[in-house]
Amino acid sequence: MTSDFCGNSIDRDGLGIYIHVPFCASRCAYCAFYGEPPLRQSIDGYLDCLRREWVLRWDGRPADSIYFGGGTPGLLSCSDFEKIAKFLGQALSSQLREWTVEFSPATVREEKLRTLKELGVTRISLGVQSFNDHTLAALGRRQRAELAIAAYDLVRAHDFDVSFDLIFLAPGQRLADWKRDLARAVDLGPDHISTYCLTAESGAPLWKNRTAPPATAGEAFHRNARNFLQENGYEHYEVSSFCRQGHRCLHNCNTWAMGEWLGLGPSAASQFRGRRFRNVPNLKLWAEGIWSSSPDEEDVAVLSEQLLLQDRFIFGMRMADGVPDSLLDRAERLGYGDLRALFERFAEEGLIRSVDGRLCPTGRGLLLADGLALEILCHCA
Ligand code: SF4
Repeated sequence: MTSDFCGNSIDRDGLGIYIHVPFCASRCAYCAFYGEPPLRQSIDGYLDCLRREWVLRWDGRPADSIYFGGGTPGLLSCSDFEKIAKFLGQALSSQLREWTVEFSPATVREEKLRTLKELGVTRISLGVQSFNDHTLAALGRRQRAELAIAAYDLVRAHDFDVSFDLIFLAPGQRLADWKRDLARAVDLGPDHISTYCLTAESGAPLWKNRTAPPATAGEAFHRNARNFLQENGYEHYEVSSFCRQGHRCLHNCNTWAMGEWLGLGPSAASQFRGRRFRNVPNLKLWAEGIWSSSPDEEDVAVLSEQLLLQDRFIFGMRMADGVPDSLLDRAERLGYGDLRALFERFAEEGLIRSVDGRLCPTGRGLLLADGLALEILCHCA
């Protein structure tokens, strides 16, 4: 299969694998995401079921990227990680280019890092969120800034690639605080930084008695991150993602380029063997479905050429490398003739430009990626 992988067309027979670890030691105030308390019995049941789901779904293709996300994957023990790696073993080959595990700084331990290194993990994504203790407290995060710095040093000492997650527009966070967070991150020098604008998730405790700031309030923060990180050698390769040269997150690039990935675990999404679907976000229901060989799935869509093409354009406008302009010919063949006119208008408005046979969003286009996506969607409807 040839896929537009991280902006490069490469021959790719491999597969992305995503494993969702649904356990959280406590609930962060801003999070409405599904999570389970990390009880030993629940984790053991989850691991057994995960192996069963792997047997049910995997089609024998080797993995070229693996991502353990959550929840808090760092809550798993060394032997938990070893169990998962054992059943994934058949998919691990020389094709594996990247294996990421998300860690909250509070869960980083030397023995876990040693185990993960031996298993072949290449990259640790640290949920730093902020280096300001007031911001961390406002977010309901239990860690303090010093803990993230100590965790980072330990991860680096074990020779992993490192990514930071940073949040902006937290309650009480001023632009000056954000600038200090960015400066601290750059001083430490991770390979990759993901920046997220805090949004008002319904059901998150933080927004119970509070009004969310308007969406436009984050623009100055976003623009500041872009300028500062670029000045300091980070490439802005996706709306929320910055990296040092050669350190893009390949797993995410594959999903944004509409490649294939298999997601395992409750609430994990997949795009696999012609279908897009999400596992039910409930440990018990997920396990019942898997053990009865009838997985409980939501948001199921059959992947037509039209749907994949539409989403290539939409997600492509979130990436600095955009999409190959030959996609417009394909769009015409599939009856989306006016997409060419739309992209001509985007170019006239300075939102995209043509670079080496690709339609790439400009800096302003990247900042307005959601608006571009909406217009593409309307033209494809
Ligand atoms: S933000 Fe992450 S760690 Fe915090 S409650 Fe949500 S899923 Fe768990």
